Amino acid sequence: MINREVDIVVVGYGGAGAVAALEASKRGAKVIVLEKAPKAGGSTSVSTGIMRYPSGIDSAKIRKLAEYIVALGLGSVDGETATVFAEAWAGMASWLVQYGARLISPGSIPSPYSNLPGADSLDMLAVLESREGYPLGCGRDLFAFLSGLVTKQDIEVMLNTPVQKLIQDPITKEIKGVIAESEGQKTRILAKKAVILTCGGFEGNPEMLATYVEEAPIEMSPSGTPYATGDGVQMAIDAGADLWHMNGIEWATQSFKPPELPAAFWLSPKEQSWINVNGYGRRFRNEDESYGHAKKHLEVFNFAHAGIGGEASWPNSPWYMIFDEKTRRAGPIIMTQRMPGSPPFITYNCAQELYTWSPDNGKEIEKGWIKQADTIVELAGKTNVDGAVLQKTVADYNNCCVSRLDQEFGRSARKLIALDTPPYYAAECMVSIINTQGGAKRGPYGQVMNVWGVAIPRLYSGGEFGSIWSFLYPGGCNLSECIVSGIIAGRHAAAQKPRV
Ligand SMILES: Cc1cc2nc3c(=O)[nH]c(=O)nc-3n(C[C@H](O)[C@H](O)[C@H](O)COP(=O)(O)OP(=O)(O)OC[C@H]3O[C@@H](n4cnc5c(N)ncnc54)[C@H](O)[C@@H]3O)c2cc1C
Repeated sequence: MINREVDIVVVGYGGAGAVAALEASKRGAKVIVLEKAPKAGGSTSVSTGIMRYPSGIDSAKIRKLAEYIVALGLGSVDGETATVFAEAWAGMASWLVQYGARLISPGSIPSPYSNLPGADSLDMLAVLESREGYPLGCGRDLFAFLSGLVTKQDIEVMLNTPVQKLIQDPITKEIKGVIAESEGQKTRILAKKAVILTCGGFEGNPEMLATYVEEAPIEMSPSGTPYATGDGVQMAIDAGADLWHMNGIEWATQSFKPPELPAAFWLSPKEQSWINVNGYGRRFRNEDESYGHAKKHLEVFNFAHAGIGGEASWPNSPWYMIFDEKTRRAGPIIMTQRMPGSPPFITYNCAQELYTWSPDNGKEIEKGWIKQADTIVELAGKTNVDGAVLQKTVADYNNCCVSRLDQEFGRSARKLIALDTPPYYAAECMVSIINTQGGAKRGPYGQVMNVWGVAIPRLYSGGEFGSIWSFLYPGGCNLSECIVSGIIAGRHAAAQKPRV
């Protein structure tokens, strides 16, 4: 066993870990960052990079922002936690700018849930400028910026080093360090001041999804880092922490996950001659409505409650995107640009450049990821769907395209483009997760709280692990939280008196 000692151990090197490490180090603490993956960045570095924040920093606005945070928490976030967060959030833009960041913002954009008290205080959206020559930046640019500051500060980072356990005093419950594994060797790293858990979500852990997420029987995949396996949840439970916001899940738009790759691509066909069908070959939803960040019940999660003696069945799973030659020719069926001007480095597969989707989808047809057939009936045979039913579904949809009216599902007229040009194609769809919000319950200064509402001594958290956000999530706030909660936890941890 190797033994080390520092002031602060940061577990996980995504956005929150980078900021917490930087803030603590700037205050004189000796910090080490331990990262499980072979590459730094986590989901932060594969994200779209949009950050939401309040403009202006007067005290009235901070009060309103705190009120809004409390309202979004639906009873789970107290006033003090919200106020400390709001104060740090009000300084987020200037924190970034002081280190040389350039924020590109379209200007004031209203926050969702505008009927909640204080909603108008959260009025700005921005991305960082691109470091790779695009008009806008993305998460890869944000993480490059943050990790650049960590490197400049000379903070030690160990990659390929999963933390497995917290070291805790059995009597005082004080956290004294961590046990990690590096190059096949157990390493004990003692922390004189604190351990900060910034180890992301649990979207890459099917067992935890099955436990905490009601919809999990439907196959799911992360669209961000597959290293988000909820290790923090296990370590925090072991240390006596309370949990919160475990039911806060941000769904991505309909997705496709090839068996060979660790994460899902987001589907975004460039032509509209496509429909979704379930395993019975029937349409089941208005394809106009994106699943991205949706807070409604998604039709793919429908469960056919059969009562005593009945079977467990999810009628809309599996589900497919069925399209014709027009859509195939229009470009990659996956999302290659999140918005005009943004780089293609979004989602784990794209940002890590694990695979380049072919411009005409030809490579993916050859691989068998996309099934191809000359007729709808033949296509049905290749996807295990009833041929006669699928043929009728396509015929009915094509009739909607003629009448410009989709009475059953309400797809908008301008998107009613007939599926009439062979060959025909099918890709099996997947629900993918942008991020989870759950983890250890966080106190006002980033402390991890125990089940009695008392902070576990010398244990902190930041970012998506135990996020302040729950069910109501105003988009762009997880990245802001990386910075805000990283600042709060890093500063408070650094101010601790060293253990003797
Ligand atoms: C495709 C996509 C787009 C998104 N777009 C946006 C957006 O535009 N705006 C927004 O606000 N949010 C967005 N999000 C969500 C946001 O990116 C994340 O919530 C946020 O980046 C999480 O940051 P984090 O630092 O908490 O976790 P991460 O960045 O995921 O970092 C956690 C790190 O901890 C490591 N780790 C895990 N377990 C251990 C262990 N046992 N030991 C050591 N290390 C460990 C992981 O490998 C990982 O590197 C997006 C997410 C995705 C996937």
